[in-house]
Amino acid sequence: MAKEIRTIGVMTSGGDAPGMNAAIRAVARACAYYNVKCIGFYRGYQGMIEGDYCEMNARSVRNIISQGGTILKSARSEEFRTKEGRKKAMDHLKKLGIDAMVLIGGDGTFRGGQIFSEEFDIPVIGVPGTIDNDISGTNYTIGYDTALNTVIDAIDKIRDTASSHDRLFFIEVMGRDAGFIALNSGVGAGAEEILIPEEDLGLDRLLESLKRSKRSGKSSSIVVVSEGDKIGKNVYELADYVTENLPDYDVRVTVLGHMQRGGSPSCFDRTLASRLCVKAVELLLDGEKNVMVGLIDNKVTATSFDEGLSSEHEINKELLRISDILST
Ligand code: ATP
Repeated sequence: MAKEIRTIGVMTSGGDAPGMNAAIRAVARACAYYNVKCIGFYRGYQGMIEGDYCEMNARSVRNIISQGGTILKSARSEEFRTKEGRKKAMDHLKKLGIDAMVLIGGDGTFRGGQIFSEEFDIPVIGVPGTIDNDISGTNYTIGYDTALNTVIDAIDKIRDTASSHDRLFFIEVMGRDAGFIALNSGVGAGAEEILIPEEDLGLDRLLESLKRSKRSGKSSSIVVVSEGDKIGKNVYELADYVTENLPDYDVRVTVLGHMQRGGSPSCFDRTLASRLCVKAVELLLDGEKNVMVGLIDNKVTATSFDEGLSSEHEINKELLRISDILST
């Protein structure tokens, strides 16, 4: 029989994402509702290793649902990648009487959690919190919707100035390995071209598309570029290339950078975080372990780490076709 769960630990790890606070709140409140003690660790796995924690109750998470960032802070921990580091973390969990953990983060966080759980036989549940939306086992990750809206807002503003001066803007958005942000914000903001890590559209096509735009009477253009676009040129190199080959264009570059991680979470992200984290606590109380929770076809669903981590969350390439048609 599974051990009774009396104390649950929670932490946020990897890159921060809007909605992580709503997730922490939901874990703390669900624990209070079910009469389970809740302990929050600061700075992800590093805080577990160092025993840096706080006791949480329903009131200690008041007014955080609307705040960006994470009150528990986030970090990447090299030490947790070692067995010695993980042993130190487990020693602190034992000392605090923690029976199970809710881990809010990305795929790296889940990988670490899976190893930790198997090594020390402690139940863990992963909650997908990352702006990248690159986790299979969920249609949406917490923070992605807010990041998209932040990007759209920024592109709209850049478009105002681009059209006033008849300029071509290359706008770099986050996504080293995944093009979700670029693809969806590109379609949503009406970009002329979208460059993503999953698909090499080629430089010739880019030039052709920009020439076609000019011919069709467009005087300004927006090209949205993922950090890790498959063409293999960064946004400044792309701008130089286009300037050399299409001297008629007045080219500018904007890198949106870390602003994409900040801001008050959207209603979608708050609701998603709330649904996933209540489920995470309930699964632990039901004796479930080593799964991630996610939203699939609008149902909160548990997927084993093995399955969630082994497959890629595929982008919807149909959006490239839509973008092509609409940028005519
Ligand atoms: P994001 O998607 O925002 O980058 P992430 O959770 O994928 O978030 P990572 O830096 O990859 O971010 O992972 C977070 C932490 O998880 C790492 O700093 C490390 O402590 C732990 N971790 C990742 N992979 C492993 C692993 N194979 N073994 C042990 N720990 C790991």
